Amino acid sequence: MISGEILGAIAMTEPGAGSDLAAMRTTAERTDTGYVLNGTKVFITNGLQAELVIVCAKTDPAAGAKGVSLFLVDTHLPGFSRGQGIRKIGQHASDTAELFFTELEVPHEALLGQEGRGFAYLMQELPRERLGVGAQAVGATEGVLALTLEYVQQRQAFGQRVADFQNTRFKLAEARARLEMAKAYLRQCIDQYLQGAMGPTDAAILKLMLTEMQCDIANDCLQLFGGYGYTLEYPVSRFFVDARVQTIYAGTSEIMKEVIARSMLGK
Ligand SMILES: Cc1cc2nc3c(=O)[nH]c(=O)nc-3n(C[C@H](O)[C@H](O)[C@H](O)COP(=O)(O)OP(=O)(O)OC[C@H]3O[C@@H](n4cnc5c(N)ncnc54)[C@H](O)[C@@H]3O)c2cc1C
Repeated sequence: MISGEILGAIAMTEPGAGSDLAAMRTTAERTDTGYVLNGTKVFITNGLQAELVIVCAKTDPAAGAKGVSLFLVDTHLPGFSRGQGIRKIGQHASDTAELFFTELEVPHEALLGQEGRGFAYLMQELPRERLGVGAQAVGATEGVLALTLEYVQQRQAFGQRVADFQNTRFKLAEARARLEMAKAYLRQCIDQYLQGAMGPTDAAILKLMLTEMQCDIANDCLQLFGGYGYTLEYPVSRFFVDARVQTIYAGTSEIMKEVIARSMLGK
């Protein structure tokens, strides 16, 4: 993976377990030679191309979150298969697939870390994923704003530039102001992360606010393009559809609010 020869994926989500990950049903049964995996995962990024998948599975189904373990699964092994690829409204450059494990045998060494600690490892690493999503939100918002700034200065309506309507000026100003606040918080989180001090609440606040900002601004920008914004000819439409999933994957906005509220109320 480090030399770029193979792509990896992480398979947590299942058809019946997304936000409520602990409800996952994929099992990994211990045998003399290793483990046998059975189950289905859905919405797995890089699922079509990955040669190594980190699979979350229950080694102790009765133990809830404490029964989850992580496995490094070589996708060339018998018992591994993938669906056709899920057709999405955006992010077409990224593949998203269903993965199936049927009596898939892996050796003991495929266990990543300790048995039963999988959920704890995920909780430890998910803030980093959310930091990445926050950084993407800032980059994409800068991109869509730059496109829009250019368009509104050349498009004319009622004998003036679209940029000259007060509504346009206010929308652009609001977007810029939100973006600058977002960049400041992102920088703060990156600094904390580098010092090993970014907590799950910081990451949840970042993901919630920055991805919601991205969706709002992509929506406002598309509006400023009028009908052209709704066409595939103008890249603003791609910014709009690509943004939409940002408040869903890596933990939905509602789950981010739960994480933040838990830090305030203790449960
Ligand atoms: C393009 C894409 C790429 C993805 N990549 C990956 C990947 O690589 N690996 C992976 O494992 N997963 C991946 N996912 C899955 C993603 O993380 C889940 O879709 C997400 O966590 C939500 O789970 P769900 O779809 O089952 O929705 P559900 O959990 O069914 O949620 C439905 C709705 O209920 C709300 N809800 C749920 N619980 C609560 C609650 N307690 N309080 C309030 N509201 C709640 C949700 O916020 C949401 O609005 C990807 C998804 C997409 C779309």
